[in-house]
Amino acid sequence: MRMLSGALNGGFARVAIDRRRWLAGAAAAFVCGAPRLGFAGNEAGGAPTRGIYRYKIGNYELTAGYDGIWNRPIDDKFVKNAYFPDVQRAMADAAMPIHVLPTPFTPLAINTGKKLILIDTGSGGQIAPTAGTLVANLAAAGISAKAVDAILISNFHPDHINGIKSKDDELVFPNAEILVPAPEWDFWMDDGKMSRAKDAVKGWFLNARRIFEDIEKRVHRFQPGKDVAPGIASVPAYGHTPGHTAYIVADGGASLFVLCDTTNVPALFARHPEWQAAVDQDGPLAVATRRRILDRVATDRMQVQGYHFPFPAHGSIAKRGDGYEFIPAA
Ligand SMILES: [Zn+2]
Repeated sequence: MRMLSGALNGGFARVAIDRRRWLAGAAAAFVCGAPRLGFAGNEAGGAPTRGIYRYKIGNYELTAGYDGIWNRPIDDKFVKNAYFPDVQRAMADAAMPIHVLPTPFTPLAINTGKKLILIDTGSGGQIAPTAGTLVANLAAAGISAKAVDAILISNFHPDHINGIKSKDDELVFPNAEILVPAPEWDFWMDDGKMSRAKDAVKGWFLNARRIFEDIEKRVHRFQPGKDVAPGIASVPAYGHTPGHTAYIVADGGASLFVLCDTTNVPALFARHPEWQAAVDQDGPLAVATRRRILDRVATDRMQVQGYHFPFPAHGSIAKRGDGYEFIPAA
């Protein structure tokens, strides 16, 4: 897949990373995950489990590969504009614990018959001891990491890009070119923005450099809204991050909206699309995007795949009152 010209790669000034500075940054409180260092406060939950789920969109074969779950401790700061007891009530209504938000990671592999494409890459075992099993699960589904031709990234938070590299900075998918949304790259690779970021977010800037700085040649930047592969269109879905991008997979009259982080755990943010998660970097924009996209997929009755949805994270979205509900595929 060489749809994007190498010219798109210009202009990124390489930033040398002082490893000590990186480690110090990683030690700062990550909202989404602390690569390399594990996550203090993560509840013991045993090893990540097997999970693969296969379905078809037209002639395309899709495999949802479970990477694991992060049992994320949450408090009254997790939803910026809701009263915490209301958040806890929504969790209890979904049979969840009320101080820990189980947050699964499920990347999606798409075999078009000509290319094998992976959307997002999981935690790389660098966020929680209960996550990092994507490669093993793909292998169990007959998909070798070496066979992946291209990786599409939705956003540069660690739970989406850390799986590009192992803990030892080895490429996990050695033959894949990597396609990233240009506005996402432009934001995270901007040194000025990094210097002005709060400490918690600064760690994400450093992490993005750790992942991408020495593999820039294989990274292609695209403008969201364009087709990125035959049958796969990118959709701007800004708000969660400045360049957050979703994807639509279409073949043979069938289509799937790959929501990525348009909504985090649906029991909270599909039911209450107006809630602004602390991980939504522009809360009001994330809410507007969420409403626009959830309304579209509900109205058009599209199939959806959601990165932080309960495994296998595939189903549809229905309108419910002022919000929406995730209906798992039968
Ligand atoms: Zn995420």
